[in-house]
Amino acid sequence: MRGLVYKVKASGFYHMMHYHYLCSMAQNEEVFKKIISHAKEYGFVFQSSEIYDGLSAVYDYGQNGVELKNNIKQYWWKAMVQHQENIVGIDSAIFMHPTIWKASGHVDAFNDPLIDNKDSKKRYRADVLIEDQFAKWQDKIDKEVEKAEKRFGEAFDKAQFLATNPRVLEYQAKIDTASKRFYGAMENNDLADVKKLIEELEIVCPVSGSRNWTEVRQFNLMFSTQMGSVTEDSNTLYLRPETAQGIFVNYLNVQKTGRMKIPFGIAQIGKAFRNEIVARQFIFRMREFEQMEMQFFVRPGTELEWFEKWKETRLNWHLSLGIPSAKYRFHKHEKLAHYANAAVDIEFEFPFGFKELEGIHSRTDFDLSSHQKFSGKKITYFDPELNETYVPYVIETSIGLDRTFLAMLSHAYTEEKLEDGSERVVMKLPAVLAPIKCGILPLVAKDGLPEKAREIMDTLKYDYMVQFEEKDSIGKRYRRHDAIGTPYCITIDHQTLEDNTVTIRDRDTMQQERISVDKIDEILRKKIRS
Ligand code: ATP
Repeated sequence: MRGLVYKVKASGFYHMMHYHYLCSMAQNEEVFKKIISHAKEYGFVFQSSEIYDGLSAVYDYGQNGVELKNNIKQYWWKAMVQHQENIVGIDSAIFMHPTIWKASGHVDAFNDPLIDNKDSKKRYRADVLIEDQFAKWQDKIDKEVEKAEKRFGEAFDKAQFLATNPRVLEYQAKIDTASKRFYGAMENNDLADVKKLIEELEIVCPVSGSRNWTEVRQFNLMFSTQMGSVTEDSNTLYLRPETAQGIFVNYLNVQKTGRMKIPFGIAQIGKAFRNEIVARQFIFRMREFEQMEMQFFVRPGTELEWFEKWKETRLNWHLSLGIPSAKYRFHKHEKLAHYANAAVDIEFEFPFGFKELEGIHSRTDFDLSSHQKFSGKKITYFDPELNETYVPYVIETSIGLDRTFLAMLSHAYTEEKLEDGSERVVMKLPAVLAPIKCGILPLVAKDGLPEKAREIMDTLKYDYMVQFEEKDSIGKRYRRHDAIGTPYCITIDHQTLEDNTVTIRDRDTMQQERISVDKIDEILRKKIRS
């Protein structure tokens, strides 16, 4: 949870940081641009309010995007609720009593440090400016390594080179000194020192090129609004910046009405809002987004075991989508919030480098105790096995739905050169997530083929999202389905009318096979389950 504690990254992290990104940054940027325009062209993601020139960092999901998004939600919900004996779901309101955000710490501490450049009038996150500088030094180290690798070939000993090369050591010392100072300043809320560091590092505004900076200020990320019609009576409310608090304040309701026994969990999917200072990278950082969160309530003293279990369970969930494990890594938080006793991020390798996709946190009894204090209501659990009453401890798993969407989109996007020299763009989405499961394509729009195709569609549409298409050549229709990730297309031709068979085409291999119409359901089912 950013802001409540500034996430201190171990300096070792920077040794690895953005390695792939820095190696092929330009190339990846190019691919990322293509993914964004593909997402628009094929109805996955649109800029919000586009005809009014857009609203920054707010996006709409189109006809294919909403299907992909719903499928991700369902895949998560099934794994986290349906397949779990002791986890139930809720759907709490976005508006909540304002004191909740006092109790959670968000009113006082959900901040980002911001700084403006007086010449360009552009606003930046001070931490991002500084971390970008670290990345530049890291880039220099990586270049030295690359050069040496070429020079020494097989005999190159990277570890020794990193430990002895004077230029590498110089850059590394710069990173270590500056990061120690920066994270120390953030922890002590010493914003004047953060500004001084920006000056000392001679960081310039990327737009104006000047070093004419304002002071660094804390900026609360919550959006507020008024409830009530008369100004004097109205209450300031916040749009929730995370869904978790809706779970904590319903802990007693769910535990009692569901007769839940510890350990148990409560899951929820819903919108969250953050007034991000610098919202970049498409749907990676949005001002309105969705989270899929689960709070698991455990006996005090058992939390670290559960933390390990959830780390593993959540990573396996990601891997079950069939994406190579090299795309994921854990990033352990070295410095923890005062209330947490373990925290790790699952990072995904986006086109712009490894970045957080999901957070798993051991939050002790901080949240429930704090709500107990602020609300005056007893929030405890009587454990019949121990004959003891306590405030449960919490393990939280918190994943961004939109970031998962982006991870899927960027992994799936594939440009292929075909044997005949032509090219295709194919979205190799996991079949279970694909917006359309099967394209239903009459070879020609006459001779009774569309009617037969619709007949087949009627047998499938209750179980699968299928799409009928008769316009354009069959080749063009295949390409359109490749571009949105449809795992199968079936073609209805004249032979279908005679022997009730169709050809089924596989998106990835492009192989076609003649099968009986009765087999389609079985093939789709198998593919989607696997
Ligand atoms: P970051 O450091 O990237 O801002 P965070 O640590 O603030 O993320 P959490 O508060 O732990 O994020 O939220 C849990 C998850 O919600 C994140 O792992 C991420 O997937 C998602 N998330 C957070 N902020 C945003 C955002 N502005 N846009 C889209 N998804 C977000």
